Amino acid sequence: MKPYKNKINRIRTFALSLIFIGIVIMYVGIYFRSHPVVMVIFMLLGLIAIVGSTAVYAWIGLLSMKTVPVECPNCGRHTKMLGRVDMCMHCREPLTMDPALEGKEFDVNYNKKNSKL
Ligand SMILES: [Zn+2]
Repeated sequence: MKPYKNKINRIRTFALSLIFIGIVIMYVGIYFRSHPVVMVIFMLLGLIAIVGSTAVYAWIGLLSMKTVPVECPNCGRHTKMLGRVDMCMHCREPLTMDPALEGKEFDVNYNKKNSKL
């Protein structure tokens, strides 16, 4: 089974790793103190990554407004889902908004706009 994750959680992980990448890039820049131009480039790249992660966090905020709160039929806890198919944040139970997809095997491709299902 492929390691599917709830989308909101996945984007959050991505935003968090962007912050770390930004910090690492800036840290690498410090090693180029003797080359100010290189150092500035690294600092800027690091800053872009951190600003990017802030943007991703803002995007999560926007996405959260579009998510549908549902009660997971498997664990009974409330979760948020995005798109036609998503997974429970707590137990990874596949969930779908589309009755036509009910009972089918979980496939992230169902979220693609050109899906003909
Ligand atoms: Zn669940």
